[in-house]
Amino acid sequence: MHILHVVGARPNFIKAAPVIAALAGPAVRQTLVHTGQHFDPGMSEVFFQELGLPQPDVNLEVGAGSHAVQTAEIMQRFEPVLLERKPDWVTVYGDINSTAAAALVGAKAQVPVAHVEAGLRSGDRSMPEEINRLVTDQLADLLFTPSPDGDANLRREGIPADRIKQVGNVMIDTLVRLLPQAEQGWPRLQAEFGLARYGLVTLHRPSNVDDPPRLASLLEALGRIGRDLDLLFPVHPRTRRQIAACGVKVPRPVRLLAPQGYLDFLALQRQAAVVITDSGGIQEETTFLGVPCLTLRTNTERPVTVTLGTNLLVGHDLERLQSEVARILAGQAKGGQIPALWDGHAAERIAAILLAPAAA
Ligand code: UDP
Repeated sequence: MHILHVVGARPNFIKAAPVIAALAGPAVRQTLVHTGQHFDPGMSEVFFQELGLPQPDVNLEVGAGSHAVQTAEIMQRFEPVLLERKPDWVTVYGDINSTAAAALVGAKAQVPVAHVEAGLRSGDRSMPEEINRLVTDQLADLLFTPSPDGDANLRREGIPADRIKQVGNVMIDTLVRLLPQAEQGWPRLQAEFGLARYGLVTLHRPSNVDDPPRLASLLEALGRIGRDLDLLFPVHPRTRRQIAACGVKVPRPVRLLAPQGYLDFLALQRQAAVVITDSGGIQEETTFLGVPCLTLRTNTERPVTVTLGTNLLVGHDLERLQSEVARILAGQAKGGQIPALWDGHAAERIAAILLAPAAA
């Protein structure tokens, strides 16, 4: 059995690592293709080291570009690799351009496609990720979902039930494996940043960072929150470009950092009083860790983090953001539970299904 994995960006590396590890063994040949969608060391290399990912067999080196250019480049560069390597499965992860591009190439080459983290829907087609989810799930032959809402979304879209497998959350597999190691780094981080009580911020969705007035008012709101609470803000490269381009002043108490490696970021999440984010994966990780999460979006493709977990959608209401932070600091944070099958074993379930005779 030959399985070819396609990864392209930070959250993909975190999701693919446990699947590649669970499939390892004499019966399986694995090929890892990095599309190069994320290419700077802080967004790519550090994850390969920390997660113990094998070096990619192929790097398509597509780099940045508009959505159409990037998707087309990945397709163009991936097709010959696929035709030459002839795997039994192409496995794609999450909802980035690399995911949809590789699924399209696989489906047209008649190589079965497996989608890890299938079925998530925000219902918001202004999000490029939502388009990638819809396309990928229509094309995939096996759809591995993290939670029951994923199954329901796929059934509603006409995907046959026998293709849908609820396996749990592979991002949580990585968290469960590496949390003890991450926690060992906490005393160093605490000393380095002089941390007592603090909040952790990440922002990179176009709806928050692409509109200069919106970004400016968000940073001002963070500045107001920063009067009462230290804020650490590891800045995504696309957000850094937007901050530079619009010349917004970042208020003093907000500490801008380079993107953090996985282990340090996990340790910082674990100890944070509150996480303020628009990330998909971080909504899930905070739910698992039981850390209050305020999401600066009007919708989420991960509704279990709200219905069961510690996540709260504050939309674009910055006064609400401030008042929810105040509530959390006053000890009135919403509680939460960990969703079923977010137990560190999702990748093992995926491997068992892919390696079962019926899947071949
Ligand atoms: N993350 C990280 N360093 C950072 C910020 C995030 O390692 O400075 C991790 C985070 O713990 C999670 C993943 O990156 O596992 C989330 O990726 P991102 O927010 O870029 O993508 P999304 O989940 O929104 O697709």
